Formats: sequence, structure tokens, C-alpha cells
Amino acid sequence: MKKTLIGLAAAASFTAIATTGALAVEKQFISIGTGGVTGVYYPTGGAICRLVNKDRKKTGIRCSVESTGGSIYNINTVRSGELEFGVAQSDWQYHALHGTSKFEKAGPFEGLRAMFSVHPEPVTIVVRADSGIKGLADIPGHRFNIGNAGSGTRGTWEVIEETMGWKRSDLKLASDMKSAETSGALCDNKIDGYFWLVGHPSGLTQETIASCPSKLVTGLTPKIVELVKSKPYYRFATIPGGMYPGHPDDIKTWGVGATFITSDKVSDAATYEVAKAVLGNLDAFRKLHPAFRHLKAAEMVKDSLSAPLAKGAIKAYKELGLIK
Ligand code: GLU
Repeated sequence: MKKTLIGLAAAASFTAIATTGALAVEKQFISIGTGGVTGVYYPTGGAICRLVNKDRKKTGIRCSVESTGGSIYNINTVRSGELEFGVAQSDWQYHALHGTSKFEKAGPFEGLRAMFSVHPEPVTIVVRADSGIKGLADIPGHRFNIGNAGSGTRGTWEVIEETMGWKRSDLKLASDMKSAETSGALCDNKIDGYFWLVGHPSGLTQETIASCPSKLVTGLTPKIVELVKSKPYYRFATIPGGMYPGHPDDIKTWGVGATFITSDKVSDAATYEVAKAVLGNLDAFRKLHPAFRHLKAAEMVKDSLSAPLAKGAIKAYKELGLIK
């Protein structure tokens, strides 16, 4: 026993000597809240951690990913301090900061900090070919998945209901499955369609279209056009033609941006290292998911962000010449 301890101590001091440069580094564990495993948030967290963990010997920061219910859950758990970072839709980042909509009860999340924005998330409506649904306006009277509790998708669905003047009972069936379950349910004819906000190309959307007769339809109606024009966190969007089999034409819709958030309780060292790992290696990051292909650094540090940038991120972006 004693011997082992001495052995360990010797080994430890050897490592310490061998890595003198890293002696001052304290170990820090950070967790990222994402979404369902077949979505784009989950691989987004994976891509961020991959770049962060490359330097873990030098920085002491160990990054891990959690599959969660989505945007609203992530914001709430970053607020409570249970998670250090999270992926969240830009509309819910805005509402959390201001204490509006779903965050009215909780009040403004003043410690909310933005890291960067990621991919665009268009409103994505996938329906069975035999459902007769040609667009968002046709959804009432059908069996429809409106997103699990805690997802940004579900929150945005509720905004749609309000905008369109729909009641929940206007749906023949409102299901709240997690995104990973929706494709199977649609092809098993348990639902006529599902709705979510997701980056493209998305594996789940691909899976549905490949598995049974189904298609993407528009998320626009005249009332929605007014809504999009009236809010800073919504934008018009297209799902490009040719991205999915059988969909040669652009699908006109609207949506939000995926953003990466943290809180002012997370150390400046951690927000600095994470920001530097991603924006300082953007070429590598872009290759980690096809939805990242068109990301531009100048836009990522500014667009879709309502909360102030985290202190460490500001330092990293100044060093990288991305902000003044
Ligand atoms: N935007 C979705 C949400 O917060 C998650 C999308 C994803 O998992 O990629 O509900």
C-alpha cells in the first residue's frame, strides 16, 4: 500500500516536471446541454467538445456532451448551474434574457451570456404524402407532433398556435414525442406529420424521407409572415432544393438561429478556451457537420445573439481579430 502511494507520488511529480508549462492549470469539467441524439444540437455539442478536448492537457478543460430535451431545458439548466454551456434557439435566448414569453415566471436571466451562433434552424414540417397537408395552414384536424416539453420546438409551436389563433384541440391528435421518435411514428402511420426547428441537412429528416412516402412543406402563412417581420429573432429561411431526394425546389419557410450560450458564473478561462477552440479552428469545425458548411466567423460572433458575449469569448475574439 505504502509502496503504491510512494510510487504514485513519484509518478505524479514526474508528470508535473514533465509538463511544467501546464502546472498552473486547474482541471475543469464542462458539460454541454444539447438535444435528441438524432438532431443537430447533439453533434454540435460533440463537435465543440472535440475541438476543446484536443487541448485539454494544456488548458485543463474537459468537455462532455449531454443529450437533453432541447433549448428551453438547456437554458434553465445553465441558469441553475447544472450545466455550463448549452445550445439554444435564438428566440428562446432572447426571451430568457428579457424574462418574456415562457420565461416570464422566472424573470430576466441577467447572467445569461452568448458564446457564438451556429447553424440556421428553419421551421421544418415533414408530413406523410397521403396526409393532404400542403403547408402549416393545413395542420389543424391532423395528428401532429408538436415537440417534447423543454424543447425550443415546442415553445415555438405554442407561439404559432397563438399567432394563428389555434387551440390545441384543433389538432386531431397532439403528440409530444422526442424528435428521435417522430420519424418512426410518421412512417408507422401514428402521426400525419411532425414539426421541429433544426439545422439542415438533418439526419432525421433524411431518414423519414428515405423510409416512407413523405415530404417537406412550407411553414409560411400570411399571419406568420407578419410575425417574422415583427420580431428580431425570427427570419425568413429556405430549405434548399436538391438537399433531400424528391425535393428539387426550395422550400420557403422561416426560422431562428441555433446559438451557443453560457452564464456569467462559468469561469472566464473556460469561456475563453471554448470560444478560441471553435472560432480559432473554424475550418476544422465546419467539417464536423454538413449544417456547419456555410458558417462565417464574422456572423457567428454577432448574429442571432441577444445576450452579451461571455467575457472570455470577448478576449478570444479580440485576439482573433473578430471584434474590436
Ligand atoms: N431546435 C430544437 C429544440 O431546441 C433542437 C434541434 C436539434 O436537436 O438539433 O427543440
